[in-house]
Amino acid sequence: MSARRGPRIVLLGKQGSGKGTQGVRLARHYGMQHLSTGQMFRDSAEVGVRAGLEAKEYMDRGELVPDDLVIAVVEERFGNPGEVHPGFVLDGFPRTRQQALELDRILGEHGLDIVIDLEVPSDVVVERMRSRGREDDTEESIRRRLALYESETKPLVDFYRDRSLLVTVDGLGSEEDVERALLAAIASRFGAP
Ligand code: AMP
Repeated sequence: MSARRGPRIVLLGKQGSGKGTQGVRLARHYGMQHLSTGQMFRDSAEVGVRAGLEAKEYMDRGELVPDDLVIAVVEERFGNPGEVHPGFVLDGFPRTRQQALELDRILGEHGLDIVIDLEVPSDVVVERMRSRGREDDTEESIRRRLALYESETKPLVDFYRDRSLLVTVDGLGSEEDVERALLAAIASRFGAP
């Protein structure tokens, strides 16, 4: 392993907050993997893998994929050391307390460096989701996902604040502005790249 590893980052935030876009940018910046559980499921559903097809039924309804299925997929990816060195950006995982506890277990002694809550008001994310037109972006599904974010995922903000890992970043503004703010937040914790 190299002497210097990259940051281990979790991006929290509502759907439509820009986690995916910024996750890709951060991973590119640091030369690390961008791990999006939603993207993993979409990819595996497209090629007909059973876990992906099973997940798709939940995704299309705007529901969360059951924890055991999500955790199995993440655990498989983390079983490959190439995924976690020099560091990683996790986007869309964890989304429940159970997943957060399982992530601690999977990572073991070298845990997360920073958890970033990318803050964007609900009316803005609803507009963004309506206009991106993904298959699971129906009105019904958008509403259900926002409600699930509040009840299941938002409590993780406190979970990680209690562990002194949480930083909040304003997700409004151009992609470049938001990336700059994210890099500054990460550098203040982890040091410059
Ligand atoms: P995303 O690509 O992050 O917007 O996720 C798309 C959909 O995949 C979500 O609406 C969920 O149905 C499902 N999903 C992705 N990640 C998770 C997760 N960590 N836990 C449960 N469901 C997930």
